[in-house]
Amino acid sequence: MGSDLPSSGPGDYVGIPRERIAWFPSIDPERCQPDRCQLNCVSWCERRVYARQDDGTVAVARPYQCAVGDISCSFQCPFDAIRFPSKRELRAMLQEARRQVQ
Ligand code: SF4
Repeated sequence: MGSDLPSSGPGDYVGIPRERIAWFPSIDPERCQPDRCQLNCVSWCERRVYARQDDGTVAVARPYQCAVGDISCSFQCPFDAIRFPSKRELRAMLQEARRQVQ
């Protein structure tokens, strides 16, 4: 795992509906070069968060399948094109989401 935060699958995360937590990767289109990599992000992610599109680009197709706190896929990209919220941002998201579900 690439983080000391716990990870989760689809569904709830520590009692919070997963869709209420905006934790997922984004791809920097200026850096992403799918024709020059091995589509590492697509093959690395067993949750199928990434998918190649018909136009040849790669997109974050299933963002809420992403394991909360897990940034391991970002280390697979040879062009440093994958971004995640910071741990601080994640903590703020979780605090706000907890407030909303209580
Ligand atoms: S994000 Fe990185 S690993 Fe994924 S397709 Fe783009 S260049 Fe390749």
